[in-house]
Order: sequence, then C-alpha cells, then structure tokens
Amino acid sequence: KQTLRLDKILSHMGVGTRSELKKMVKQGRIHVDGKAVKDSGVQVNPEVNVIEADGERIVYREMIYLMLHKPPGVVSATEDNRDKTVLDLLRKEDRVFNPFPVGRLDKDTEGLLILTNDGPLAHDLLSPRKHVPKTYEARVLGNVDEADVQRFDAGIQLDDGYETLPAELTILGQEETEEGTISSISLIIHEGKFHQVKRMFQAVGKRVIYLKRVAMGELELASDLAIGSYRELTADELSLLR
Ligand code: URA
Repeated sequence: KQTLRLDKILSHMGVGTRSELKKMVKQGRIHVDGKAVKDSGVQVNPEVNVIEADGERIVYREMIYLMLHKPPGVVSATEDNRDKTVLDLLRKEDRVFNPFPVGRLDKDTEGLLILTNDGPLAHDLLSPRKHVPKTYEARVLGNVDEADVQRFDAGIQLDDGYETLPAELTILGQEETEEGTISSISLIIHEGKFHQVKRMFQAVGKRVIYLKRVAMGELELASDLAIGSYRELTADELSLLR
C-alpha cells in the first residue's frame, strides 16, 4: 500500500539520476501500467504498479543480499587506496544498492562473504552476543593432532591474552611435503576476532598457509559458485540467516 515517488524508485534501481529521469520521461521512455508517464515525481506503488524503462520491467526492492566466493588478493572493505576491494567485483547494477561486506576476511583468505545493504541483519550476524558459527577449512603447516583438538575445545589464549570460546577442530588429513607436515582441517568458531583462525594456530605453534570460509551460520558457500563470482541469495538461503 506504500507509494513512493517514481523518480526515487528509478534512481534507487540505478536507471538514472533525477535529471536523466526527467529527460527520459519527456522522451516517453518511462511507462507505468503500460502508459507513458508525464511527471517523474508521480506517486506509484512499486508492489502493485508495473514500471518499465525503455520497455524493460523495473522490479523495485530495497534490500540486496549477495553471496560472494571471495578470491584471495582482494580486501573486504568498501574502499581502499591500494588494493582491489570486494565491491570492485560487483556489477554496476548491484553496486547501486550500496552493499557492504558482512564482516571481514583477510586479503589472502577465500570463501564465503555475504554482502548486503541490510544494516540490521549484518549487525545481528556480527553481534558478539549471537555467536553465529563460522566454518573454515584450512591447510596448516605442522602436525595438527588430537591434543590440538582438545585445546581448541577448551578455548585457547591468543597472543593478546584473549581466551577464545570453545571451537570445534576436525582433522581432515595430513601430507608430508618438503616444507614438513601439512594438515588439512576444518574449524568452527563462534566469534570473530581479528585474524582469529591464524592466531589460534599460532598459539599452538602452527601456521595457517591456506584459509577458506565455507559457512556462516547455516548458510554454506554454494559449491557451484566459481571463485571470484557471486549471486543473490535465494529466499531459502536468506531464511537461514534470519
Ligand atoms: N580468521 C583469520 O585468521 N582470517 C580470516 O580471514 C578469517 C578468520
């Protein structure tokens, strides 16, 4: 039942600026319910009225929710003077919504990153009180063993003295290389301190050499999402985050 100015809707959807839209209206390129509109400021209901620009249906929505398979080498910030950011990976039509990354992955970390313009949802997912679990897969230089599993489960002290919450470490495999033993593991943590996974292994004398986030809460990184690409969350996926 909510009506909005047509030019507000169209500029939000990235169709054009207010003045460009005025021009488009003059040129008869904007239609509402099949009729060319005369005034770009007319009130319309985006849930009821059919809006078209140059014959293309414009479906209005406020929020955007994206799943990105973050590649290494890009930073999870909205702006950076030196490095490419995750926003640089987005298409223009998605950037108009001003999405931002929900939390951070290190520049060299890969995997699941959610981007949205839904501030309250992002806030909830990151709230230290909610303890939303994050699942990582890693390759670790060193022989990760049962003693480490126990220590991670008990909570370990980081270099700054912080005691981590219990974390679920699973050993997936081990291989001998010229550099020494490399362990493949998965780890579920329930908080998100700076460089937390790397620092947890550092605390037990081991070094993370590859890190990928595979899930946030119940939401898993889609297995068919190529590294560096992204798509919108499905309604089912979004409901897993709420
Ligand atoms: N822990 C880390 O050390 N790095 C990340 O990017 C995420 C979790």
